[in-house]
Amino acid sequence: MIKVKNDKKFLPAIITELPGPKSKALINRDKKVISSSYTRGEPIVAHKGYGAMLEDPDGNRFLDFSAGIAVCSTGHCHPKIVEAITHQANSVIHMSGTDFYYEPQIRLAETLARIAPGKTPKKVFFCNSGTEAIEASIKLARYKTRRPRFIAFQGAFHGRTFGGMSLSCSKVVQKRYFSPLLPQIDHVPYAYCMRCAYNMTYPKCEMHCVRVIESQYFRQSIPPEEVAAFVVETIQGEGGYVVPPPEFHQELKKIAEKYGILYIVDEVQSGMGRTGKMFAIEHWGVEPDILATAKGIASGMPLGAIIAKADVMNWEPGTHASTFGGNPISCAAANATIELLESEYIENARKMGDVLTKGFKQLQKRFGVIADVRGRGLMIGIEFVTDKRTLKPDPKLRDDVVAETYKHGLILLGCGYNTLRFCPPLLVTREQCDYVVETLGTCLEKLTAGRTM
Ligand code: PLP
Repeated sequence: MIKVKNDKKFLPAIITELPGPKSKALINRDKKVISSSYTRGEPIVAHKGYGAMLEDPDGNRFLDFSAGIAVCSTGHCHPKIVEAITHQANSVIHMSGTDFYYEPQIRLAETLARIAPGKTPKKVFFCNSGTEAIEASIKLARYKTRRPRFIAFQGAFHGRTFGGMSLSCSKVVQKRYFSPLLPQIDHVPYAYCMRCAYNMTYPKCEMHCVRVIESQYFRQSIPPEEVAAFVVETIQGEGGYVVPPPEFHQELKKIAEKYGILYIVDEVQSGMGRTGKMFAIEHWGVEPDILATAKGIASGMPLGAIIAKADVMNWEPGTHASTFGGNPISCAAANATIELLESEYIENARKMGDVLTKGFKQLQKRFGVIADVRGRGLMIGIEFVTDKRTLKPDPKLRDDVVAETYKHGLILLGCGYNTLRFCPPLLVTREQCDYVVETLGTCLEKLTAGRTM
């Protein structure tokens, strides 16, 4: 067992066998009573968090480059977030925005309307999670257009409720035995250029994957006047941190506009500053009709929202609501989160994203198993293959890397079939990023020893 010695509070220190005795005891209790549907990876028990660091009950200190699945945007327990939560908890904990009014929710909606991409006036609907934001998007799109169908993408993940699950096309285990799903949803290939579904090469393909929607699908199988919306992740998250080319969203949006189809972007994972802009779609210069956000919005408090053009979000009272949606404490945390993002952390995400990407590209030169380093800001994926020529995926190596870096006190998650994702809190430092690149190099050295590439 590797022990990691470190006196620095903001770098890992592993002082026991992993998992330590207290963590082990908790995990044993957990196994008896918690649903077996969760996909637990490394046996990490969260006890205390600060910045990008997480301590387990045994006193081991981890550098958390998962951020609670891209949620803790301002780090763990940022003093300003704790203060906002505490202050609100001493004022009003709940009153339901469905029937009543409270200032933190109004202020948050004003802020979201201001920071949403595009100049068109916006309105906001609040819920509790990403999948609920997608449900709200589906309902609003159907209500607005009076059309039944949706077009979503292969590799997509939009959540676990019936609407979100039906739009998803990521892993079969998420759908098996849950049918019937929402009808009238078609999945078309995403612009995953490294593994193009049409075996073409960008840019020679001239965005075939987008053009074919109009030239083929709309002629053969999907009547465009029945389509309420495209639902698309700006950058695919669970599908493998897949970044589409510069024309993708613009070309798709043009088709949407031509046929009166709404453009719904799912920014649940890519939003709230993670990519070095408040919303990732700003990198593509497109104004969506509906934008779904959650995860990083409130630094770990449960909150989801859709931000829609005001003339799209004009449904009548009673059509949609949520008892807990837009809870005052979550809204207070979100207001404090956005202040921190705007004042320093979006800029930091951009800068530290560059540092990490540069470091990973250096590793790519050293290790033939790295086929791709991609991302924006602090949403970065590394795709592993057995062979760079055939691009045969190596999901085992990815899993081994997650397990090995854990022994060095680094918390990472996979995504897609064979991709390693980096979605740390947006306040990570240069020293922490250097540690991650160095540790990844050390682990790859060990795991690929003896391979010829
Ligand atoms: N949409 C995207 C792009 C996501 O990444 C996720 C979760 O990973 C969801 C929706 C669902 O969010 P939640 O788990 O908060 O319901």
